[in-house]
Amino acid sequence: MEHNLIPLSLDETFNFSCNAGIPCFNECCKDVNQFLTPYDVLRLKRHFGMSSGAFLEKYTTQHIGPETKLPVVCLKTDPADGFTCPFLSPEGCRVYESRPSSCRTYPLARMLSRSRETGQNTIHYAMLVEPHCLGHSQNCTQTVRKWIASQNIAIYDDMNDRMMDIISLKNRLIPGPLDIKSRHLFSMACYDLDAFRKHLTDHFQKNDFGLNDESWKLLLEDDEALLRFSLDWLKQAMFGSLIQQ
Ligand code: SF4
Ligand code: SF4
Repeated sequence: MEHNLIPLSLDETFNFSCNAGIPCFNECCKDVNQFLTPYDVLRLKRHFGMSSGAFLEKYTTQHIGPETKLPVVCLKTDPADGFTCPFLSPEGCRVYESRPSSCRTYPLARMLSRSRETGQNTIHYAMLVEPHCLGHSQNCTQTVRKWIASQNIAIYDDMNDRMMDIISLKNRLIPGPLDIKSRHLFSMACYDLDAFRKHLTDHFQKNDFGLNDESWKLLLEDDEALLRFSLDWLKQAMFGSLIQQ
């Protein structure tokens, strides 16, 4: 599909509005190749009241990313219905309040780059203009900053940046494919959070991580706290010895 990417700074304005009355309503949710971040999976499995394992099994496929050589999770789609998102209904998105980060940010794309010299992260935004999307011709102007604030995306950005950190470490320190054990740990810690919680309680105790009762209880009960912990844990498990070199 042809598209243009137009870089925008936080205080630049763009014209866009999306609503159920627009003739292209739902067009953007057909022919999708929607990958999910760990936090997208967390929000969607919670939305359906499912375990992460059951959600992954029912709604997603996994493959190894050709560039990163890391497990990638994508929504399962069916060629027979034109690769339509499984969460689309005639009334619109069935999971709107838990929709993935890229659906939230659209028509903007958020990119993070890291300086090799300073280690500083810089965030860039660009507007995606696709021929089927009529939202750009609506009479509604806003700044990038205002659009982001309206999409409740801060926690997605925080979690996705933690994931990007792991991907960039992997690219830098282990350029080739992972061994099977590391691949399994990566999939579990990033995407199958309920399995990771069981792994923690089966194999570790709070003292192994220097946690007090309260912090340990939080990990067992709070998915967001557990995902932050699992991504930090994964970083240590995969790169700990390499980072210290
Ligand atoms: S999750 Fe919702 S907004 Fe995103 S592609 Fe699917 S139906 Fe569309
Ligand atoms: S305006 Fe764009 S984002 Fe909204 S429904 Fe149409 S194609 Fe999708």
